[in-house]
Order: sequence, then structure tokens, then C-alpha cells
Amino acid sequence: MSAENSKTAKRGRLLIVSGPSGVGKGTILKALFALEEFPLTLSVSATTRAPRAGELDGADYHFLSKDEFLRLKDKGEFLECFEVFAGGDWYGTLRAPVEELLADGRVVVLEIDVKGAREVLKTYPDALTVFILPPSIETLRQRLEGRRSETPESLQRRLAQAESEIAHCKEYRLRVVNDSVLRAANQLAEFLRVNI
Ligand code: ADP
Ligand code: 5GP
Repeated sequence: MSAENSKTAKRGRLLIVSGPSGVGKGTILKALFALEEFPLTLSVSATTRAPRAGELDGADYHFLSKDEFLRLKDKGEFLECFEVFAGGDWYGTLRAPVEELLADGRVVVLEIDVKGAREVLKTYPDALTVFILPPSIETLRQRLEGRRSETPESLQRRLAQAESEIAHCKEYRLRVVNDSVLRAANQLAEFLRVNI
């Protein structure tokens, strides 16, 4: 961006999307992006978890070894980072790309957990926050099983984590029940129309 543009351009906004693993965050965001109505860019998190079949390094996540991840953490390169599933893998949002995208006027989407959201709000209190809820815990289990991404152990960890995440949904400005992808995406779009 030129110096002149940077003086006049509108600064972007953060959109934080949380919700238990397998609730449909990625699926809903895909539908929201497909509307092509908002200047959305999905932030690519870093993680120490292994890639799933079909996931691409640099697109779905920056897949890092634990050593690499902790080195970046020590250098202060993360806006936020946490061990999302107790004793499991690290996940984090890199600070520099988010700052660049905001300076470019983008609406930067962070798909992060409740602890990460709280941390980001300390730096960006005007971030828009949305929590995606499953119609029921049984539906969440079925979706996680249907995705075929988890081992029996990681499935259990994710379900155990789900209830404690859901307990904090009231901290978010918008709550959306994902009973229909289209309906949920439209609810999110309406929220953006009013707030950005
Ligand atoms: P998350 O990003 O929250 O971990 P995903 O977007 O990967 O979740 O969705 C988990 C699984 O649930 C996927 O297989 C997806 O196709 C399915 N899914 C998402 N939303 C719905 C819905 N409204 N109805 C039925 N299945 C859904
Ligand atoms: P998955 O392993 O299914 O891709 O992600 C599991 C969970 O990790 C997601 O539901 C999301 O809440 C959380 N997550 C993903 N990226 C980040 C991140 O950068 N920071 C934090 N704090 N959580 C993340």
C-alpha cells in the first residue's frame, strides 16, 4: 500500500470465530466466503498437530515441530498461543500477518479457541466475536466421527473440551447454532452487515 493510501485507507477488523472442534466452523466460514460480500481473509494459524489427509502446509495451518513453535513463542511472534487440548498440541496466531492484513483494510478471521479469543481481545477489544454451537453434544459427536479425522483418543479429548468451551459462549457478541450451514452463514453475514 502506498504511504498516501495508508493515511486514508480504512483499517480492517478482526472477526473471532470460536466453537468446539467439529461444530462446523470451517464449513460455515467457507459458505460465508462464498458470498463474496465482505473483504474477508482467513488467518492461517500455526500448530504442532499433524496434518490431516488433504491439509496443506501454509494454507490450512503452518505445521511446525514443537521446537519450532516454542522458539517462535519465545521470540514473541504470537498474538496468542495455547495448548488447546490439555497436554496435547499447541495452536497459535502469528502476529505479523494479522497486523499487515488489518493495515490493508481486511476483515481478518481468526478461528481460535476461547482462551485465544480472550487473549486477542486484550490487544483488539473491538474484535467481533462469534461462537458456533452444535444443536446437541450427540450431533457434535456424529459430526466429529463423520469427518473421520480423529483417533478414538483425540475424539474423546475433543468432546471433553467441547463442554468447557460451550460454557463460555455468553462471552461472545453473537451465538449461532449450526443446525443448517446456510442458515448459520446467513446469520453471520447479517452480523457483519450491521457491525463492519
Ligand atoms: P470445525 O471447523 O468446527 O472443526 P468442520 O467444519 O470441519 O468443523 O465440520 C465438521 C464436520 O461436520 C464436517 O464433516 C462437516 O461437513 C460437518 N458439518 C458441518 N456443519 C454441518 C451441518 N450444519 N449439518 C451437518 N453436518 C455438518
Ligand atoms: P483442529 O485441530 O480441529 O484444526 O482445531 C482444533 C481447535 O483448535 C479449533 O476448534 C480451534 O478452536 C482451535 N484453534 C485453531 N487454531 C488456533 C489458534 O491459532 N489459536 C488458538 N488459541 N486456538 C486455535
